[in-house]
Amino acid sequence: TKYVLITGGVVSGLGKGVTASSVGVVLKACGLRVTCIKIDPYLNTDAGTMSPFEHGEVFVLDDGGEVDLDLGNYERFIDVTLTRDNNITTGKIYQSVIEKERRGDYLGKTVQVVPHVTDEIKQWIQSVSSVPVDGQTHPADVCVIELGGTVGDIESMPFIEALRQLSFSLGKENFCLIHVSLVPVLGVVGEQKTKPTQHSVRELRALGLTPDLLACRSAQPLIGSVKEKLSQFCHVPVENILNIHDVPNLWHVPLILRNQKAHEAIIKQLNLVGSSGPPDLR
Ligand code: ADP
Repeated sequence: TKYVLITGGVVSGLGKGVTASSVGVVLKACGLRVTCIKIDPYLNTDAGTMSPFEHGEVFVLDDGGEVDLDLGNYERFIDVTLTRDNNITTGKIYQSVIEKERRGDYLGKTVQVVPHVTDEIKQWIQSVSSVPVDGQTHPADVCVIELGGTVGDIESMPFIEALRQLSFSLGKENFCLIHVSLVPVLGVVGEQKTKPTQHSVRELRALGLTPDLLACRSAQPLIGSVKEKLSQFCHVPVENILNIHDVPNLWHVPLILRNQKAHEAIIKQLNLVGSSGPPDLR
């Protein structure tokens, strides 16, 4: 299984969930089998006890797992049946580490965030991604991982570190990072500003992760010179800069990605063979 990690920068609520689901849709339309993991860096073990006013709908999975609504998006977009383990939270990770500590599994070692919590995260990701979720018997080709929150948050640091280690051990052609960022428009002239994206990419790099693709959220489609600028300053090839502008209907997002050949960029990065020809998104 190869991994596509979706991170977010600048502000929360950018549409990482929708981007992750839509990436799943275009990859699936290329004939690849896709599974998903949502990482929520909060301490609740699941979303079941969280106020829907604060958190949006709690999505209930077939196995009874009460999880983040993004898993509902994945199931609806990609047509898979996920389990409660496909939603990793800080609460679940710590619970598991503390249970191991009480059992004496760490053999007297000092139990620490690095390496014990980060190892637990890596193990969890690798074991969940190998479980087929589309009714078949062997693991999926690609696992889309969405990291909730914004890069640089204190809460998400152990996950960032675990994912950095994972990307390093798996190598470039098994791990593709898509960073979702914001390109706001300022002032009456309506200039599209790249600086927030530059800063969030810099933050990501400082943590040891390098974006392979950028997914820029904007109100209106990006103009060509803005893409060039982002490419130069963020060190991402211009064909790997995707633009997801606001749409009236979320089901348009996979079509936007297909039109920008997002599938080709991801498949090339991961050295995968998709079906020849454009993805079938009917
Ligand atoms: P995140 O996972 O980054 O918190 P979500 O995927 O939950 O963000 O999306 C946040 C909100 O933005 C949702 O209500 C979603 O419907 C909306 N949204 C996401 N992408 C777009 C888009 N391209 N156009 C319009 N609305 C969008």
